[in-house]
Amino acid sequence: MLDTYGREVRTLRLAVTETCDLRCRYCMPEKGLPTRSEPLSQDELVEIARAATQCGIQKIRLTGGEPLFRPDLLEICQRIAQIDGIHTLCLTTNGTRLAALARPLREAGVKRVNVSIDSLNVSRYAEITRGGSLPNVVKGLEEALQAGFERVKVNCVLMGGINDGEINDFIELTKFKPLEVRFIELMPMGECSQWPEERFLPAEKVLYTCPMLDRIDDEGVTERYRLKDAVGTVGLIRPMSHMFCGSCDRIRVTADGMLKPCLHSAMEMSLRGLSGKELEKRIIEGINAKPATHHLNETGTQTKRSMCQIGG
Ligand code: SAM
Ligand code: SF4
Repeated sequence: MLDTYGREVRTLRLAVTETCDLRCRYCMPEKGLPTRSEPLSQDELVEIARAATQCGIQKIRLTGGEPLFRPDLLEICQRIAQIDGIHTLCLTTNGTRLAALARPLREAGVKRVNVSIDSLNVSRYAEITRGGSLPNVVKGLEEALQAGFERVKVNCVLMGGINDGEINDFIELTKFKPLEVRFIELMPMGECSQWPEERFLPAEKVLYTCPMLDRIDDEGVTERYRLKDAVGTVGLIRPMSHMFCGSCDRIRVTADGMLKPCLHSAMEMSLRGLSGKELEKRIIEGINAKPATHHLNETGTQTKRSMCQIGG
């Protein structure tokens, strides 16, 4: 359905947990975050997904926290993938459990998977994630490439002075693998909200670093590029330097059942305890409450939650 600014809202980001096995420095404090309340049950998640399709949602991305740590994730995927009206079920993961779960997820109906990898250097990756194992995640990525997903993407959050020296290494990955490597501008939220200015790089840096990239097209909020003769593609997501709210087609639901019309707004609407037409009515209210734009550059984010609590 169209929101009040004429944008067609087709995507729901549905967080299935707030917890995570990694502690990425920009996202989670070292000791983790206290869980706010019980996560949505499997039945609640499926009911929200069903109601969302009645409101025009066609694509659902499961996220978190780390979705692969939810014990009933495969059943959740199977049930959501079977809902009439769901065109694409996708998942964003840190990949630590992907080696074992890539094939079962594909069989459960997940069509696309995004794997977050912020460094291709073993010790830098461990430093950013506070202890994560890069070889393990790369194994997960390789499994995902073999498992028959429609698309596999790598999400890399650009951090000035930390991983910007690796831009060409990430782009190299697209030469021979059918991957989309997406560089995402770091947003000052939660843990990184007080980081020094030099950490926040415009994605333009990717284009200066690799001028051989040819522009292909835009896909939603992603600008897509390709190296000549490369199998894969490169994407830029620029929430800070380019206002892309005009093409925002998404709403979010947190793991504790709050609908967020905009990532950076404090507005939240509870879906808990609702079902059937009442639930659909609340989701429509949420779509209509989407603001024209965020105000990240003027006032900073207004949300009280970090990305792992919202569902990035
Ligand atoms: N744990 C999963 C993962 O890391 O892919 C899913 C949840 S995580 C919050 C989703 C995405 O949000 C990741 O790609 C992560 O890098 C990104 N993210 C988290 N905090 C961010 C921030 N402040 N700015 C930009 N991206 C952020
Ligand atoms: Fe966990 Fe993902 Fe946040 Fe890293 S970005 S701490 S993997 S939720």
